[in-house]
Amino acid sequence: MTQDYDLVVIGAGPGGYVAAARASSLGLKTALVEKDPKLGGTCLHRGCIPTKALLHAADVFTEIKEADQIGILVKDVKVDWAQVQKYKNKIVSSNAGGVQHLMKSRNVEVFNGFGALKGPNTVVVTRTGTENVELKAKKIMLAVGSAPRALPFAPFSERVLSSDQILELPEIPKSLTIIGGGVIGIEFASLFARFGTKVTVLEMLPKILDTADADCSKELALQLEKQGVQIYTQVSVSDIKVKGSLAKCTYVDAAKKSTTVESDYVLVAIGRAPLTANIGLESTQAKTERGYVEVNQFMQTAQPNIYAIGDCINTPWLAHVSSAEGVLAANHMAGKNPAAINYDHIPSCVYSDPPVAWCGLTAVEAEKRGYKVKISRFDFMRNGKAAILGKKRGFVKFVTDVQYGEILGVHIVGPEATDLLAEPAFAMQMEATIDAIANTMHAHPTLYEAIWEAALVATDRAIHG
Ligand SMILES: Cc1cc2nc3c(=O)[nH]c(=O)nc-3n(C[C@H](O)[C@H](O)[C@H](O)COP(=O)(O)OP(=O)(O)OC[C@H]3O[C@@H](n4cnc5c(N)ncnc54)[C@H](O)[C@@H]3O)c2cc1C
Repeated sequence: MTQDYDLVVIGAGPGGYVAAARASSLGLKTALVEKDPKLGGTCLHRGCIPTKALLHAADVFTEIKEADQIGILVKDVKVDWAQVQKYKNKIVSSNAGGVQHLMKSRNVEVFNGFGALKGPNTVVVTRTGTENVELKAKKIMLAVGSAPRALPFAPFSERVLSSDQILELPEIPKSLTIIGGGVIGIEFASLFARFGTKVTVLEMLPKILDTADADCSKELALQLEKQGVQIYTQVSVSDIKVKGSLAKCTYVDAAKKSTTVESDYVLVAIGRAPLTANIGLESTQAKTERGYVEVNQFMQTAQPNIYAIGDCINTPWLAHVSSAEGVLAANHMAGKNPAAINYDHIPSCVYSDPPVAWCGLTAVEAEKRGYKVKISRFDFMRNGKAAILGKKRGFVKFVTDVQYGEILGVHIVGPEATDLLAEPAFAMQMEATIDAIANTMHAHPTLYEAIWEAALVATDRAIHG
């Protein structure tokens, strides 16, 4: 069976399905190919949504446990893990239904099966239990995403888990060793530590959240340690042995000392690999570099009618980045002349307790680019709303350019950091100066006042700072 389309998208994650919806709205006859039984990709089924649902459960649990501090007495707070899992699964499944419905309402034809290129204009969909189908396409978009990387000496197993597997644990582990102190590892550390798990984080680099501002990373490490998480940096894991229900993880520190930590499970969170093998790239001119598909600023590969977006190209592994790239590619192929993405303005969020969020450059990065920078900081300690919430740790920090007051970066650690980020991120996108934020009235008492006060510090008009 052969069918003709203007666009065939392979992969229905937040990159692929959003791109398909946009392309169809632009009048392109669009098909979407997905190998998993449900649409939504890593983000919906194994990433953003299930992790944030579990983290929300941990937030609620912590809040109730600590409610006595404000005079609300609750006895015997317990976690029903099976029920927590049900809550998480319900959200995932309802959102997956939403994506399916969206595709229908936008007239995107969905094909379930494994999609592979057969030359520059054909996608073969291999389906189980029914005949394969060949889709002819003027344009093709690769949105195949990525999968967790395993350690070369310790394949994933019942005790050595990937981030996919840990989401389905039938129990809250008594102890957990997490290899990798990046965003994924740290979110799971924050989740399980608050549910009572003894968590150990092993990180190869000098600090956790390597890409975050150093002070934010330090503050988060401090708070996690207060919650009982043991963090070891500059260590390299050399071996994992599983004996019965115990995993023994051996690591070597900077002084070459070897230590073994025992736990119920090990989570390997050392990064992800693009799913670009076996998709027929060799039958086209498209090129890869370490598995990532190479693209230009409009997401076109070296085979100009084939585009690639999201986790399978070498840009940050974030759902909103995938979606933005998908929309850009759809606009470009429909002749809309879109502006390229400014990767300096990507919001990055870590939904730990406390959360961390940032957009733009750190002071170090800005100085490397030749800017003369000013750093201004306002601590939540001096914010009325943070005091009401009992969440006074953390700060808002701006990195601004001395000459023009351009906002080069914003870094937040503390209450609601991930939502607060929207204001300065928007200001940066609008190319507003730091004065514009300082001159904007912010309602009292709100956490947003901390952003305003950090801007006041930057413009030498500090009130509480
Ligand atoms: C634990 C975890 C937490 C995360 N939390 C966040 C977060 O809070 N915020 C955030 O922004 N990002 C988060 N991410 C990252 C985010 O999930 C990814 O960046 C995002 O899903 C990438 O989108 P994508 O569309 O490029 O790829 P994916 O979401 O991976 O989708 C790719 C789709 O393609 C399908 N596919 C692959 N190969 C084929 C083929 N040959 N044929 C047919 N179908 C195929 C896959 O089955 C999949 O459905 C998280 C990731 C993880 C693992």
